[in-house]
Amino acid sequence: MFDYLIVGAGFAGSILAERLASQSDKKILIVDTRNHIGGNAYDHYNEDGILVHKYGPHIFHTNSRDVFEYLSRFTEWRQYEHRVLASVDGQLVPMPINLDTINKLYGLNLTAFELTEFFASVAEPKEQIRTSEDVVVNKVGRELYEKFFRNYTIKQWGIDPSDLDKSVTARVPTRTNRDDRYFTDTYQAMPLHGYTRMFEKLLAHPNIKIMLNTDYREIQDVIPYKEMIYTGPVDGYFDYRYGKLPYRSLEFKHETLNEQVHQPQAVINYPNEHLYTRVTEFKYLTGQEHQKTSLVYEYPRAEGDPYYPVPRPENAELYKQYKALADATPNVHFVGRLATYKYYNMDQVVAQALSLYAQLAERPSWHPEEESVPAKKAIAPDTASNRSFQPSPSKLPLTNFPTSSSGKSEKLNGNGKALSPTQNGSA
Ligand SMILES: Cc1cc2nc3c(=O)[nH]c(=O)nc-3n(C[C@H](O)[C@H](O)[C@H](O)COP(=O)(O)OP(=O)(O)OC[C@H]3O[C@@H](n4cnc5c(N)ncnc54)[C@H](O)[C@@H]3O)c2cc1C
Repeated sequence: MFDYLIVGAGFAGSILAERLASQSDKKILIVDTRNHIGGNAYDHYNEDGILVHKYGPHIFHTNSRDVFEYLSRFTEWRQYEHRVLASVDGQLVPMPINLDTINKLYGLNLTAFELTEFFASVAEPKEQIRTSEDVVVNKVGRELYEKFFRNYTIKQWGIDPSDLDKSVTARVPTRTNRDDRYFTDTYQAMPLHGYTRMFEKLLAHPNIKIMLNTDYREIQDVIPYKEMIYTGPVDGYFDYRYGKLPYRSLEFKHETLNEQVHQPQAVINYPNEHLYTRVTEFKYLTGQEHQKTSLVYEYPRAEGDPYYPVPRPENAELYKQYKALADATPNVHFVGRLATYKYYNMDQVVAQALSLYAQLAERPSWHPEEESVPAKKAIAPDTASNRSFQPSPSKLPLTNFPTSSSGKSEKLNGNGKALSPTQNGSA
């Protein structure tokens, strides 16, 4: 008998497996439909022996010391500060927009002070900022919006920024200094031996059994367990009862070239040319030395694996309906980006998983019902009585988790606290 059936071996599922096994001596079965652990952060050595990220570049950054220290138990790190160039008007210029971007683009020699004045002179102040277009035009004016944001966003989302929630571009900074780092978080690093190696260590506890190539539906009725942690798509769990939650997808085209370095920076964004949005050269991220180099091109797609929840009010409403079902489902804990229909960075998912573990561990009784819960009953039938169930502890605010040393709950700082979408289409 397993204490937990964990659906999904990405960050959310693997961290809960690790905590429950190592700290609470629970017996865990973790299943994934894919043929590997690590979820979207999975990396592997390709046929030329170059370490690549199968599902697009994953750059670790966080302001949460707790998250960083927790993961540091399972990996050493390579210091890495991410940098991106954008191909605009035939030039490669720093992105996010900074002093060098504007000087290079317009052949100017502005100081930081003069750039502030420049932005003020071109900005179109908006009384109410509602859309992704409003955010950018309000800050840097229409011309820079057209050059850097409009077409990129249309490519990425298939929607004009004037129809997209402000959250998508709200957190792309504009700088008046020469800082060309993509992120400014306190901790910026890559797992020294890759993400998959880190996941192997997370899941190495003898209490954890792993089943790959397995949909949980194939086994939930035949393998007994007490509770479920579900990190798959929330609408799928409820058989799309209210319809599908819309996602934007990506197709990744990987390529290896017979040269040591191909492009001048880790990522080049192409706002206006090509069907792909950006190209990443992995050796910048991993620090690997190799005669050849591998790149990945990202082509946005309407159909395919669910990657980016589409932030529109009607989708938030639809998610609310599924969340109500999830809250009313006993003995199933919905966690992670797919189960909560939010774009979370990796550190936010780590924080969310640690927080859920803390809540589970604090319960007076681990399993209110002594007997195993037949899995089928764990899926809430659409009845009024089930809808009125008390929310399980996993539905409490996700802001605390115990520190390793004291065991006391502590507020998360930085990214961990916010737990809000940070998507800008180019995370
Ligand atoms: C293109 C892209 C780039 C990104 N770049 C960054 C970045 O640079 N930095 C950053 O911090 N974050 C980045 N992210 C976000 C990051 O991928 C997520 O934060 C993280 O992977 C979420 O972990 P998770 O466990 O919630 O979900 P996932 O990693 O998606 O894991 C969920 C797992 O559940 C499995 N599953 C689903 N349904 C079932 C089922 N029915 N039965 C069994 N298994 C199932 C899936 O196969 C999957 O492996 C990026 C995301 C994308 C899409």
